[in-house]
Amino acid sequence: MAFSIDAGTAADLDAADPLAAFRDEFHLPAAPDGSPQIYFVGNSLGAVPRAAADYVHTELERWARLGAAAHFEGELAWLPYHELLTDSLGRLVGGRSSEVVAMNSLTVNLHLLMVSFYDPTPVRHKVLIEDHAFPSDHFAVESQIRQRGHDPAESLVVARPRSGYETLRRDDLLALIAEHGSELALVMLPGVQYYTGQVLPMAEITAAAHDVGARVGFDLAHAAGNIPLALHDWNVDFAVWCSYKYLNGGPGGMGGAFVHERHVGDRSLPKLAGWWGQRPDIRFEMGTVFDPAGTAESWQLSNPPILTMAALRASLDTFDRAGGMEPLREKSQRQIEYFGLLLAEVIGDRVETITPAALAERGCQHSLRIRMPGVDGRAVHEGLERAGVACDWRYPDVIRVAPVPLYNSFTDIHRFVGILDQVLDEATR
Ligand SMILES: *Cc1c(COP(=O)(O)O)cnc(C)c1O
Repeated sequence: MAFSIDAGTAADLDAADPLAAFRDEFHLPAAPDGSPQIYFVGNSLGAVPRAAADYVHTELERWARLGAAAHFEGELAWLPYHELLTDSLGRLVGGRSSEVVAMNSLTVNLHLLMVSFYDPTPVRHKVLIEDHAFPSDHFAVESQIRQRGHDPAESLVVARPRSGYETLRRDDLLALIAEHGSELALVMLPGVQYYTGQVLPMAEITAAAHDVGARVGFDLAHAAGNIPLALHDWNVDFAVWCSYKYLNGGPGGMGGAFVHERHVGDRSLPKLAGWWGQRPDIRFEMGTVFDPAGTAESWQLSNPPILTMAALRASLDTFDRAGGMEPLREKSQRQIEYFGLLLAEVIGDRVETITPAALAERGCQHSLRIRMPGVDGRAVHEGLERAGVACDWRYPDVIRVAPVPLYNSFTDIHRFVGILDQVLDEATR
C-alpha cells in the first residue's frame, strides 16, 4: 500500500476521489471553535442532505396549495408516494421492487415480520440471536417468543464469541445452527454488528439455516448504505432496517423491509393486517375483505408519513447519483485502508481496533478500544468531542468512529488521527 502519513497524501487522495463533490451536498455541523466538525457518527445519525429541505418543503407547499387533493395529483401523489422509494431501496439492499417496502421503523418492522416468519411449533420453537444483540432486537425477539407461548429460557439460542475474542466466528455460527437444527425456527442476526462493526457472512448463514429448515431474518440497521447487499440472491427470507443511520433519512426516519419474492404472495403466512396492505387497486374501495397486495407492500399497515419519506427521498436520490453501493464501497475500502495505516503508524498499540481487519468482514466503522494503563476510554472520547470530532462511546469500552464515503474526506481521517494522537498524549500527562 502506497499511503504515507503526511497531510499532503490526504489532500491527494481527496483530489483523486471521484465522489469528493458529494460532501458539499450535505450539511455538516461545526465544531465548538467554528471549524468544521469531523463528523464520524453517520452510523448513528447520518448527515442531512442539503436537498432534504426542498423535498420536504415541496410536500408542505403541495399540502398548502392542494390540500387533500395532493393525495391524488401529479407525480408526487401521496397515495402511492411510498412507491417512489422502492427502487432506490431495492438497489441498496439487492432486492426486487416486489420485495422491498419503505415503512414504519425498524423494531416495528421486526415485530411485523416475526409475526409472519417466526411460527413456532412444539418441536421447532428456537430463535438464534447473538449475545451482544442491540437491546431493541433482543427485547423484540424475547417478547415474540413469550407471545407465542414459549419461554426464552428454552427458546432463545445465543451465539457468543469465543472467550477472549470480540467477534463471532463463521464456523461457530454455522455449527450452532446445525446443532439446534430441527428445533430452530428462526435465525435473527445483524448484517453488521453495531458494537464491533463486524459483517456477518449473510449468504452462508442463510444457506446453513435453510439446510436445517429454519428461516432467516437480518437486521440491517448498520448494513444498509454501508456495505453492498444482495438479499434476493442470498435467498434471505426477510430483512429490516432503519434509515437514519447510513441512509441519512433523518431522526426517527422511515424504516424499510425486505421479504423474499418466494414469500410475498404466500397467503398462508400469518400477518398483522392494515388498510395500506390491501391490494393498491382496491385500497380505496373500502371493502372489509383483506385482499393483500402481492408484494412486500402487503405488510404495510398505515397511511405513511409523507414528510419523513420526502426527506428520505432526498438522500436516496443522492445515493443513486453517486452510482449506488459499488463506487461508495470502493471509496470506503480505500478509506478503511488509509485509516488503518494511519492508526498503525501514528497511534500504534495505544489503541486496539476490535473491528475485523479483513475487508469482507467489515464496513466503514472502526470500533476502537484504548489500551493505555490508567487512561479511561470515556475521557478520551470526551477529549475527541472537545477537539471537534463527533464520534460515540458505546458501553462498556468502545469508541466508534465511522468515516462515511458519501461525505467524509480522507482529510477528515488524517485530522482525526492527529487529534487522537494529541488527546492520548494529553491523557497521560
Ligand atoms: C439503530 C438500531 C435499531 C433501532 O431501532 P429503531 O426501531 O429504529 O429505533 C435496531 N437494531 C439495531 C441493530 C440498530 O443498530
